[in-house]
Order: sequence, then C-alpha cells, then structure tokens
Amino acid sequence: MFSVCGIIGAVLVSGQVAPLIRQSLKRLEYRGYDSSGIATVKEGRIHIKKDKGKIDDIHRRLNFDALPGLIGIGHTRWATHGPPSKSNAHPHIDCFNHIAVVHNGIIENYQELRESLVDQGHRFLSETDTEVIPHLIEVALQKTKRLDKAVAKILPKIEGSYAIAVIDTSGKTLVCARKESPLLLGLSESGYYCASDVPAFLPMTRQTIVLEDDEIACLTANGAALYRLTPKGVLAQLPLRTPTTVQWTLDMAEKGGYPHFMLKEIHEQPRALRDTLRIRKDDLCKFAGVLNNHQIICAIAAGTSYHAALASKYMFSQIAGRFMHSVVASEGPEIIDNSLGGDAVVIAVTQSGETIDTIHAIKNLKRQGCTILAITNTVDSSITRLADGVLYTQAGPEIGVAATKTFVTQLACLASLSIHLGELTGKLQPKEASQLFDELYRFPNLLQSIIRNQEGLVKETAQHYVAKPSFFFLGRGISRATAMEGALKIKELAYVHAEGYPAGESKHGPIALVEEGFPIVFVAPNDRTRRFILGNVMEMKSRLAQIITICSSGDNHLAELSDRVIMMPPALSNVFSPIGYVVPLQFLAYYAAVQRGYSPDQPRNLAKAVTVL
Ligand code: GLU
Repeated sequence: MFSVCGIIGAVLVSGQVAPLIRQSLKRLEYRGYDSSGIATVKEGRIHIKKDKGKIDDIHRRLNFDALPGLIGIGHTRWATHGPPSKSNAHPHIDCFNHIAVVHNGIIENYQELRESLVDQGHRFLSETDTEVIPHLIEVALQKTKRLDKAVAKILPKIEGSYAIAVIDTSGKTLVCARKESPLLLGLSESGYYCASDVPAFLPMTRQTIVLEDDEIACLTANGAALYRLTPKGVLAQLPLRTPTTVQWTLDMAEKGGYPHFMLKEIHEQPRALRDTLRIRKDDLCKFAGVLNNHQIICAIAAGTSYHAALASKYMFSQIAGRFMHSVVASEGPEIIDNSLGGDAVVIAVTQSGETIDTIHAIKNLKRQGCTILAITNTVDSSITRLADGVLYTQAGPEIGVAATKTFVTQLACLASLSIHLGELTGKLQPKEASQLFDELYRFPNLLQSIIRNQEGLVKETAQHYVAKPSFFFLGRGISRATAMEGALKIKELAYVHAEGYPAGESKHGPIALVEEGFPIVFVAPNDRTRRFILGNVMEMKSRLAQIITICSSGDNHLAELSDRVIMMPPALSNVFSPIGYVVPLQFLAYYAAVQRGYSPDQPRNLAKAVTVL
C-alpha cells in the first residue's frame, strides 16, 4: 500500500453518506495533509464543503455531516499544484456544478489541457492540475450522456498519475479509475466504496478488490462493475474479481500490513521517486536559472538531508561543472556568516521544513543578502515562508523517524536540477541532458527490482552480523555520501557504532581499528571510482576484515574478494547511484534494529522534526 494522501468514495443503500466519509477521512489522518473536502449528491444537486486545515477543525466550522445524500466522495490533499487553500482543496467541479471529482496524483499535461479548455470558454476556480478533469468530463458528457462512458473517453488524454472518484447530478453511480496511484474497492451489503487505502473503509467492510492500472469501476448501492479502459477510451467489461478478505487491524492497515512504517516507507520509494520525477519542468528550470545566475552555490542541511546535499555536490560538479559548497546546518553560522552575500544562492534541504538548525542558518544568510531556495517535503512549513523559491519532494508523509523515501526524493530533485543546470552552463548538450534524464527515469523501476530481489539477502546479512559492535561504511566519490547515510542509519536505528568515511581516506586513521572479523560495508558501483576502491578492499582484506560489498551485478572480481555481496542492477552505476545504492543500506539498518529488538519507527533520543538548536 502507498501512503500519499487519499480519496474515498461511497454509495450506500440507506442512511447518510457524509458522516461516514468524514470518519473515513479521519482514519487517513495519520498520513497528515493540508486540506480536505466532501461532495455528495441529493435530488439532482451536488453539495460540497471543503477548506484548508485539519478535518476536525473544518468539521467544527462547516459541519460536514450536514451534507445530504447516499452517494459521495471525499479527499485529503497533499498539495502538488497550487498551495493549500479553500479553492485548491478537492472536490473540484465543472462549470455547472454537475460533476465533482477527487483526485490523488499528478497530471503532467494539465497546462495544455487547461489552456485548451479555457479557450473553449471553461472557467477555472483553482490552481490545481486536478480541475481539468471535471471540465473534460463536462465536455465528454454532452456526447456520451453517461458518466462512466464520459470518464472513459477523457482518461486517455491524461498523462501522469491518478486515482479518481467522480460523481454527477444523476446521483446513482460513482465512477472511479486509476493509473499509478493506488485505489481499492470495498464491497458490503450496505454499500460500495473506493479508497486509496484500507483504513478508510475498514469498519464498513473487509472485502476488497485492488483496482489495477487502466481499470474503471462503477459503483452503485447494489453492486460494482469492472471495466478495462481501451486506449481509445472505450469500456470493455471485465468479470468482477473475487474479493480478498483483509485480516488487518486498523493499526496494521495504517502500516499497509507492514510491521513498521519504516519498512512500508522503504517499499514506497519507487512510487515516491516516480512522483518526484514528475515535478514541473518549468519549476526546475526556474530553480536552475537562479542557481546559474549566482557565482556561489551552497547547500545547507542536517542529518540525512545533509547526505543528499553532499551527494549533490558531486552531481553539480560532474554534470553541470559547478562547484557547490555543502554545509552542515548547525555549523553554518560558524562558516558562512559574514562571508556570503548577494552573489550567493543557498539551497536549504529539509524534509520537515522546520529543522531549526537549517532555519537559523538561513535567516542569517537572508539578512546577508543571499538568495534562498528550499527543497522540502512539507507544504506551508517555515522554510517555505523564508525561501525565495521552493521545490517540493513528492514523498508523501514520512512517519518513521529515520528518513528513507524523503532522502531518495531529495536526491531526485537535486539530480534533475543538476541536469537543467548543466544545460544552462553549457556543460551538457541537449542530447546528453536528455540521455541523463532517461537514465534517471529508469530509477523507479530499478528500485522496485532491488526491493524485490535484495530484501531477503540483506535481512540474512543483518542476521549474520547482528552481534558485531562496530562497522565501517566506505565509498569513493558520490558513494561516500551513500556510505555516510548507511552508517547514520545503522547508528540511529540499531544503536551500533558505525563510521561512514571516504574509502580513500580510511587509510589515514580509521584502518587502525580494523582487525580480524571487523565488518566493512563497501559501496562500490561500477563507476569511475571502481578501480580505486579495489585497492581499499584489498587493504582491509589483508587485515582480515569481513568485506560486505554492494556492487554492480556482474562485477565478479569484487564479488570474489568479498565475504558477502549484494548485487545491484548495472544501470545504477552512474552519478545518480546513491538513489539506488542506499536501499540495501536502509534494509540493513532496519533489519539490524529489528533483530536487536529495537523499534525502528521510534529510535531513542530522536525526533522527526528537530526543532531545537
Ligand atoms: N495534484 C493534486 C493537487 O495538487 C492532487 C494532490 C493529492 O494527491 O492530494 O491538488
């Protein structure tokens, strides 16, 4: 299961649907979000209540439960297009308030669609990508006269990801569909449901069917019908699959059936990455333009975000030919106060947008005249109010204290930026830039295959070394950042001492600690550093260390030198390698923690957003 914010739709045999939808949205609240809304239909009219804020607060103000009718849709929004506000909150409607839509996902081509709809005279009320959907349906419905057929007609026009639920004034049928965003059906005698995640309808039913990509479901009070969507936008009826019975408790359902949020979030990384790689090109180009216009580029961050900043230093130099300073936020004031001014642009990288070390450093730099850009996962956070420009990673809420999916999405943002910057600096020809983008776009699928193929092996490796009190994590070049992140993860989760170090530097001190059986994790993609890391492996091996290598599949030489090998797809051996190579290290830390009896979701002495200096 995925954990982006969610949608719910319900059609009941009797009673009132709004209170049930409100409670369903409430059960999705553990994910956190910025606004929500509900639409229902009664007697040929659509009724909507929506606003910015938390469900209970909105409910207190607007009374969701007063919405009439047996059929309705609800949404909790994690803004991607347009800030959190009443007008941007879902549901969205067509020009005549005849159609209401909730959507989870990102429509990549919404600008073209919106422009052409505006040319046809449609009126838009929000800044969201979503709003094109009700207007497109409005046009199609004039011809098809049936909501399901109209939805089918317009979906092939939409590029990007979606899970949608749609109602119209006919008030009988709820139409839902998905592509790359999750959607489940819930079936019961008292009604039919669709939702992004099981907790939404768990108290009503345990009978579910997972909707697949390019499938459309029509729900009425008495049944569900399933269709495959043809590329021409025609519905081809499918037999209704036998529902599975979900055995989870609510707590288990919130974790998507995983024992911990952290494991769920590791598994969500392909999706998080895919969504982040959909960030609007215009926004990235604007960001890259600002970077290009400044003489000095600096990234400032703390913890795992600092490792993303460190990795991007290598990307910026290798891809864009620009040197970037990366600074630990708490050290910022000591290093850069009074030495940076108007010719500097500073990128603050922070998952929560509230990391006080980063905010503190940024406030000073702003006073000094620096331009501030932010990369964060949290809409409306403090950093977004301080920054001159913001890019949002599309990780969705991260609940495990240890950062996982926010790290890979920060890296994806920084990687995309470095390519755009490379085009602006002239280091990259357009063809080279598009080749690099192609390589980057392959990562979500590659991550999927790592997760599928390597989890078991890493778990077993963690078990093998469970009694070891100390580890080294070594890497060269950009893999130094990956190694440091691996060390941080095992330290914070399994409470094992670990040093993340540049492999080449290890002989200048740390090697003194190495003795027989000392475990050393080498992060060794088959990139330009590969031939040097061999020497470091040999040095450690001759001191009888245990060598655990994460390397490119087919690298038999490294494999022969190692006691344990985790093989990675060869396509990951480039300047974006940390995005993939960090995954086995996250698993290693997770399983080391679990095997040592610790809770990986709440490591001791740590908090998700560190708001003390
Ligand atoms: N892209 C849509 C928006 O920004 C949907 C976001 C979501 O999945 O909550 O409104």
